[in-house]
Amino acid sequence: MTAPTCTTCPYCGVGCGVIAPQAAGGAVAGDPAHPANFGRLCSKGSALGETLDLEGRLLAPQIAGRDASWEEALDLVAGKFAQAVADHGPDSVALYVSGQLLTEDYYVANKLMKGYIGSANIDTNSRLCMASSVAGHKRAFGTDTVPGTYEDLEEADVLVLVGSNLAWCHPVLFQRVAAAKAARPQMKVINVDPRRTATSDLADLHLAIRPDGDAALFNGLLAEIADRGAVNAAYVSAHVNGFDTALAAARASDPRDTGLTADELAAFHDLWIGSEKVVTVYSQGVNQSACGTDKVNAILNCHLATGRIGRPGMGPFSVTGQPNAMGGREVGGLANMLANHLDIENEAHRAALQGFWNSPTMAAKPGLKAVDLFRACADGRIKALWVISTNPAVSLPEAEAVAEAIRSVPFTVASDITAATDTNACCDVLLPATGWGEKSGTVTNSERRISRQRPFLPAPGAARPDWAILCDVAGRMGFEGFDYADESEIFAEYAASTALARDFGKDLDLTGLAGLSKAEYDALAPVQWPVPETGAPGGRFFAQGGFFHPDGKARMLPITPPAHGEDTHYPFRLNTGRIRDQWHTMTRTGKTARLSSHLAEPFAEIHPEDAIAHGIHDADLVDVTSPTGTARVRALLTTRVQRGAIFLPMHWTASFSAPGKANPAVAGVTDPVSGQPALKGSRARISRF
Ligand code: SF4
Repeated sequence: MTAPTCTTCPYCGVGCGVIAPQAAGGAVAGDPAHPANFGRLCSKGSALGETLDLEGRLLAPQIAGRDASWEEALDLVAGKFAQAVADHGPDSVALYVSGQLLTEDYYVANKLMKGYIGSANIDTNSRLCMASSVAGHKRAFGTDTVPGTYEDLEEADVLVLVGSNLAWCHPVLFQRVAAAKAARPQMKVINVDPRRTATSDLADLHLAIRPDGDAALFNGLLAEIADRGAVNAAYVSAHVNGFDTALAAARASDPRDTGLTADELAAFHDLWIGSEKVVTVYSQGVNQSACGTDKVNAILNCHLATGRIGRPGMGPFSVTGQPNAMGGREVGGLANMLANHLDIENEAHRAALQGFWNSPTMAAKPGLKAVDLFRACADGRIKALWVISTNPAVSLPEAEAVAEAIRSVPFTVASDITAATDTNACCDVLLPATGWGEKSGTVTNSERRISRQRPFLPAPGAARPDWAILCDVAGRMGFEGFDYADESEIFAEYAASTALARDFGKDLDLTGLAGLSKAEYDALAPVQWPVPETGAPGGRFFAQGGFFHPDGKARMLPITPPAHGEDTHYPFRLNTGRIRDQWHTMTRTGKTARLSSHLAEPFAEIHPEDAIAHGIHDADLVDVTSPTGTARVRALLTTRVQRGAIFLPMHWTASFSAPGKANPAVAGVTDPVSGQPALKGSRARISRF
């Protein structure tokens, strides 16, 4: 019997280690040696073995609906992209990729677009997930650094979960927190969320904040920190700029904007200020907002003012969505970044990376972010589009308009494991990719831990790894530098390139992994970065300062909370999000009856008093309508949501297809700094169908 394959779960950013099934249809197990989960799995992870059949898979290249050879398809893609660049310039082509990609795929895609085609028009569905956190980190720290580790959540005396349903969205991390609280009942958990969720059940204090009231909450906390003499003056003096202006803005903030009572605010202040060991975890309730970056910085301000950062049990902590939570960020997966956390606006950074790649050109300015990228498709600026491993015709705001935008592009390609998706239906060429269990590479989870995804199944049909498809197109476009024998060579090149980050004083250092042989890469144990050439890997950042702005200091920012407007035509606030047992658009989790039995159909959570006011009964079909579209779902009356709020799960597509489909009612409003869509902040009205 061969040794079992240790790999990494393909779902959320916790990044759990998984022991693969040893036979078709067999069960997976949690990897007891993996430091993210120590053998635990959640419902989705433990059902992975049930999702490995080939039903619905894309198994051969297709051109205009007919099967084609790889040669024909790759020639066509390379030719059309080269022609668009020749006729209209590099910015006439675009790639839209995914946090489902492995770091090696992401690295090659970015190298091709930024260093060879010469455009930064490559963005990712991670823009929908954590772009505001990235932007907040960069503003405060000078680079996109997660300061702490998962252990900090267990070691905290006060754990604040802001806009995070950790119990459903990062379940194994929640299990770790619940176990820590059971072992230390004095540990306090605060849940800040307009909606009561399964996470709230663990909390000692649930603050049902007004939507987008987070900035006012943390502004008020900063003012209270100052008033109670809890500022760490030595830390601020040595390591932080901007304290006075941030505090002045905080004092100008109105606590009523939180929607919380004075008693609730006092309880929050007492707990947060009264315990040195505080971790503030935040997720999509913070990020997916028109003011998401400001909310992130309001949180970071409080940790910087108290010096509670980078020490055990202390710090802000962003938990993000996808399996490659951070790998894409590390290799420049966003349109406004370069690989290695280098800055695209910085001429020296661009020149250094171009020199490392020995590439013919380098994108000279940021590219189009996700929502703008598809608007550029709609208005004719994009002549050739390649969507890889994601389904924007469902997942982006104004999804119907996105589908129409894709159809309007003269030449479109989609690489996917699934044959029939809403996006694939809009594309000229489909390229079959290998998926989880078939492909090989690395991912980085939410605590900077790099883990291997290892294959244990043969590639089905003609499916190929995404990096190999990209390299073949690059070669056909006449580019050298994409002649990798396997993914280990890509990883070694990427790790070597991080010497640039180190040399420019950035945080990302994998030079200790640059010389890995293929055998060492295959055997790579989970490791937290930085991994320097000498010295121990991993650890925390910023306990002793050492920020990545040129002066070595962090920045506190003055934050002005948003105004809360009313809309008489669309009086409800529409919040979209995940449920426990489904993942994204259900192309994998939808295959298991066990997972579908948790919540079998989409629904709209509506407060009972709002339902009465609109003549709606429990289980009625209702239309949730915004200026951009309608979702028709069943009403679920519950006091989990506040009056004036509606919650819709994000996963289902078919049920939304008449008259709308997924995210039809979500407006394409974005955060002005990060470009992240406000997927939790649309206006809507409801009516009985
Ligand atoms: Fe997979 Fe996330 Fe569940 Fe872990 S918590 S098993 S990474 S879905």
